[in-house]
Amino acid sequence: MQLDGANITVMGLGHFGGGAGVARFLVGRGANVLVTDMQPADKLADGVADIADLVEQGSVRLRLGEHNISDFTTCDLVVANPAVPKPWDNRFLRAAHAAGIPVTTEIRLVIESLPRGVATIGITGSAGKSTTSAMIAHILERLSASGQISGRVWFGGNIGGSLLADVSAITPADHVVLELSSAMLYWLGEGVGFDAARGWSPDVAVLTNISNNHIDWHGDFNHYCDSKLNIFRYHQRSARIIPASTPDAALAARIAAAAGPTAITPAVPKGGVPLLIPGAHNVLNAATAAAAAHAAGIANTPSELLPLLADFAGLPHRLQCVCERAGVRYFNDSKSTTPDSCLLAVRAFDEAPGRSRVHLIVGGYDKGSDLSPVAALANQLAGLYTIGKTGPAIAAAAGPKALACGTLDQAMSAIASRARPGDVALLSPACASWDQFKNYEQRGGHFAALARGEQLAKVGAP
Ligand code: ADP
Repeated sequence: MQLDGANITVMGLGHFGGGAGVARFLVGRGANVLVTDMQPADKLADGVADIADLVEQGSVRLRLGEHNISDFTTCDLVVANPAVPKPWDNRFLRAAHAAGIPVTTEIRLVIESLPRGVATIGITGSAGKSTTSAMIAHILERLSASGQISGRVWFGGNIGGSLLADVSAITPADHVVLELSSAMLYWLGEGVGFDAARGWSPDVAVLTNISNNHIDWHGDFNHYCDSKLNIFRYHQRSARIIPASTPDAALAARIAAAAGPTAITPAVPKGGVPLLIPGAHNVLNAATAAAAAHAAGIANTPSELLPLLADFAGLPHRLQCVCERAGVRYFNDSKSTTPDSCLLAVRAFDEAPGRSRVHLIVGGYDKGSDLSPVAALANQLAGLYTIGKTGPAIAAAAGPKALACGTLDQAMSAIASRARPGDVALLSPACASWDQFKNYEQRGGHFAALARGEQLAKVGAP
């Protein structure tokens, strides 16, 4: 698609740089851009600020607080936000289609801008795609740093922001690791968005697992599954990695048929995998990542690659090992804002060989969830330390083994005085952060700084 001089409508500005990044890329290619979003300007302040310079210089116009049908029917191209659910039902995208206007998305712009010959590794799945993608990038970065592979490693897609700003720096010698959501894969399907749209699948296609998810976006499980399987559909000679086990036999057969006879299932070595991050699911993710890196043309076998993950600390705020001090390992799981995710985090340490005693910090903003399963953990823990608005109620329900601390600072002081070498200190709050912090990232950052012994201004009141 010729972008120079084209009139392009970007649907959805959003808050995380998505629409703004697309607009900047398109302006850089010489397009005249209209960014439109249903939300009003005051709700999109950060997105608007991101492109204020482009608006000022006249290369981007804004239509916020509404969509106008004619913006979708009189342009040369529409770039739809992948968050728009059931895009085939969306009346603005339907209007574009009826007027013969092609519709694309950020991920297709990325794919179409990659240099020929660059190695692409795509990862999808209902759970574990971020972790597995980050592990693959970690292995390849290690190999690149030691000169075992040439070129750079680029990591993006559904994680870590858009690669659009980087595409002009990517060379054919590089490796591009892309986490792909089911919505992105839908949009990469053949004939989706415009009749001549080519289907795209990566050179190495990884599926971690499929379970019921995102039905609100897709409408039904069949559509979700079909979109995910696009990862295998359009590349005849790709290497394919599929889950070693899928409990539903019909689904397992469907995955195997889509991936074909050459598909590889990752193998977990008998001796296990030395990982900083806990949980049997992460051992599986590591085996999958090593199989994928090997399939990307790395001569080392997967079992030779696995040790490169020994220092993989995990994704920020998701059971991330932030440091070890005085023999105590500190794990930041600040992204855990539901009781289920907290229970899962605690269970992950149960699965580790030579299980550790866990000091768990919970509590925060009151979303009205039933926190009794979290309180019930007290008896199996080395300590339960409560903070925030929900803290007192959790402590009361948990009984004498709980310590009502009020703030993260006090909880960390209590843990420092009680923990023994070999113990684990885990922040997995089961609650949102907004009572004491701006967001879960700030909460996790504060935990990490306290864990490392950095002096900080106190955040949050008891
Ligand atoms: P995604 O990017 O697919 O959401 P993440 O890697 O961010 O996945 O992991 C999210 C959560 O999914 C983890 O906290 C863990 O509870 C669960 N999970 C991760 N990997 C797996 C796996 N291989 N199988 C099942 N659950 C997993």
